[in-house]
Amino acid sequence: MAIRINEHYARGGFGLSFEFFPPKNEEGENRLDEAVEDLIQFNPSFITCTYGAGGSTRDKTLEIVKKIRDSRNLPVAAHLTCVGSTVDQLRSFLSEAQNLEIDYIVALRGDPPKGETEFKAVEGGLRYANELVALIRAEFPHFSMAVAGYPEVHVEAPSPQVDLENLKRKVDAGGDVVITQLFYNNADFLRFRDDCIKAGIEVPIVPGVLPTTGAAHLKRMVSNCGAKLPSDLYDRMEALGEDVEGQRKVGVEHCTQQLEELIAEGVPGVHFYVINRAQPTGDILRSISIPHVDQSDW
Ligand SMILES: Cc1cc2nc3c(=O)[nH]c(=O)nc-3n(C[C@H](O)[C@H](O)[C@H](O)COP(=O)(O)OP(=O)(O)OC[C@H]3O[C@@H](n4cnc5c(N)ncnc54)[C@H](O)[C@@H]3O)c2cc1C
Repeated sequence: MAIRINEHYARGGFGLSFEFFPPKNEEGENRLDEAVEDLIQFNPSFITCTYGAGGSTRDKTLEIVKKIRDSRNLPVAAHLTCVGSTVDQLRSFLSEAQNLEIDYIVALRGDPPKGETEFKAVEGGLRYANELVALIRAEFPHFSMAVAGYPEVHVEAPSPQVDLENLKRKVDAGGDVVITQLFYNNADFLRFRDDCIKAGIEVPIVPGVLPTTGAAHLKRMVSNCGAKLPSDLYDRMEALGEDVEGQRKVGVEHCTQQLEELIAEGVPGVHFYVINRAQPTGDILRSISIPHVDQSDW
């Protein structure tokens, strides 16, 4: 059995993780394979695959992580959300993940389905991620779990304090590691990390980074997850107009600098939202010096 994910970070080896999503067609499959192939050279600690809205990618998520685990001999994490699933359906996913010897679960509530503004649990389903974490800890105790954290505060939370209390609830229920939502201003992450420590959240807090490739891309990505638009970065990219390559360079430079600062601040690892395109992540990793990644620690 794999050791718990937090123990890996605790051993002091820098945790480098890459997040992919399940493609919808053959072209997407090929792009995913290429992205994994390109990024494997950076010696990731583990790889994760998202879980699509309403359980739409249920089988695909498991298929992808299993394929990567088997072909690359790397620890893998399957994301799982509560959206549209009864507890029995969640159990069935977890049993299958267990049979496939998936290492970790990223345990989430998920967003309300498209067109709906409020999350509603299905009958016989769960309302919050802490309930999913508790279910996993009680019935599938060998799974180590990551949970989501929000340096800019989750969009539905009435206050940063309440959001933090809810994060603590997830960690107390059994979350081993917090992986954060994307952010472009390190001050937000560092404040969040300090607040977590003050709130007694003692697990590793791993920043999630999404390398942006241009103004339109940046706007779309922050709006998808309710994060703040970093106006300085956006304006600098937008001012370059049709210069796509120039915009890409500005985005990569920003995220490279972001990462250099985060590493200097002693983060235990970094989680890249790769979105199945290897180049921006690869460009960043080629230009910075990542702390020692020792595969044997994972
Ligand atoms: C690392 C990472 C990976 C992700 N992967 C996916 C993915 O694969 N698929 C996908 O669809 N989405 C994914 N998401 C997005 C995520 O599903 C959304 O951000 C979602 O809106 C919240 O999920 P959560 O697990 O943080 O929910 P929760 O922790 O349940 O929080 C949701 C809201 O409810 C509040 N809350 C939490 N617990 C309680 C409680 N007990 N009582 C009252 N209020 C409470 C919180 O403050 C927050 O405002 C990911 C996000 C991150 C950061």
